[in-house]
Amino acid sequence: MDELKIFIGGQWRCGGGHQMQSLFPADGSANARLHAASLDDLEEAIACAQEAWRAPAWRNSLPHLRARILHKVADLIESRVDELAKMQSRDNGKPLAEARGLVMSAAGTARYFAAACELLEGELPTPRQADLLTLSQYEPLGVVAAITPWNSPIASEMQKVAPAIAAGNAVILKPAEATPLMALELARIFEQAGLPPGLLSVLPGKGSVIGDALARHPKVRKISFTGSTTTGRHLAHVAAEKLIPASLELGGKSPTIVLEDADIELAARGICHGIFSSGGQACIAGSRLFVHEQVYAPLMARLLELTRGLRLGHPFTEGTHVGPLISDQHRQSVLDYVALAKREGGRVLCGGEIPADPALASGSYFQPTIIEGLSNGARVCQEEIFGPVLVAMPFSDEAELIREANRSVYGLAAGIWTRDTARALRLSEQLEVGTVWINTYKTFSISAPFGGFKESGLGREKGIQGLKVWMQQKSIFLATGNSVNHWCD
Ligand code: ADP
Repeated sequence: MDELKIFIGGQWRCGGGHQMQSLFPADGSANARLHAASLDDLEEAIACAQEAWRAPAWRNSLPHLRARILHKVADLIESRVDELAKMQSRDNGKPLAEARGLVMSAAGTARYFAAACELLEGELPTPRQADLLTLSQYEPLGVVAAITPWNSPIASEMQKVAPAIAAGNAVILKPAEATPLMALELARIFEQAGLPPGLLSVLPGKGSVIGDALARHPKVRKISFTGSTTTGRHLAHVAAEKLIPASLELGGKSPTIVLEDADIELAARGICHGIFSSGGQACIAGSRLFVHEQVYAPLMARLLELTRGLRLGHPFTEGTHVGPLISDQHRQSVLDYVALAKREGGRVLCGGEIPADPALASGSYFQPTIIEGLSNGARVCQEEIFGPVLVAMPFSDEAELIREANRSVYGLAAGIWTRDTARALRLSEQLEVGTVWINTYKTFSISAPFGGFKESGLGREKGIQGLKVWMQQKSIFLATGNSVNHWCD
């Protein structure tokens, strides 16, 4: 197997760090071997990035140039959807259908920020003052860091790289150790699309080594991170020390609420998708289910039926709903949570085990699992499992429901199922979360800002704001007469 090169300051070469590999979670086979970036590689990438974003040809370029590159990136991605989806599946085990969706969304993200950078204009702040013209313009931050997790690499990487480049920055991307393939392929695509060398480097490696050194580097002027709350908190400290902005997309323990007038079929299908797609390995997974006691029995009966019918299988088999988890180690942590749930008094209604099917024996598969009998204070209801585990709880009183739904350190998302739209909107306002889905779940728009309340994060990605967060504003005051600064005699 050929060794993968990494992308440092516009050059493809072997990293100077430890040897690492990307493994296919469906059978443990190696997709690729490569060497991580070393600290010297990091220095070199940052030096090239600094030179590249300051180069007059880039700094003074019209937004058309950046937009053209991003449209070309989108064209290249769209011309290779199946191939890229397969690469994404190999890297993290996502079923092909889901991976295709992520690839298409990455192309859409590139197009959105191409358009956004064309439309972004400076401002003439009001009120107007006599003899004084005040301008406010947006400028890039310089060299910026993007640090990404393994669960949806192509989407989360594009969500950072596209707006950062659209804003005129140079980006150093540090993908998760388990999933370097997509980030390196994105670098190839940006290179083919004509991005000048140095503006994007991809440095695979350990978070605690390369990620940490990247975040701490004095020339890095922003950290954009998606991952666990623990690492996010660490990076917030690093950013505070350096006085640079940090944008943090962190964990979640999102409540899904079924009111007594909900359409049971729609709700059951939405809940099933909300927790079990991606094998629950999503920060937004709807992992706490609150069901009104009047509809608890029929809702749970249908949900169990749907869950038992999910096809757990190879990510490349069409029709697979749930693929393997990222690794055996991660599966063990999910298994430990199910054991904890039982000790806490939970009843496992379905799943809860490694599947017995010999065809799945070599992958990190885990059965979709539903647990009841726990109260919201249980650890299993409070800690992020990041796996296919749903905890269901009945409720009767709306005020109590809101208190319990909000009783979490997290505040990423929530779902509400009801036919009463006004009531859903009223509840939405009381939920301490960054996204509320009403009669749907896990649906997205690139123009809607995304991010968390509380310990689910800081800052927003997507939307026009998602471009501005990669820029800083400068105010310019221009005296147009002689009356300004008549201060001394
Ligand atoms: P997960 O549990 O999803 O792996 P992490 O927060 O550990 O979440 O990882 C998300 C990303 O953050 C990965 O790219 C990882 O390598 C990186 N990372 C982990 N620890 C650090 C750190 N101390 N400093 C910078 N990046 C880190």
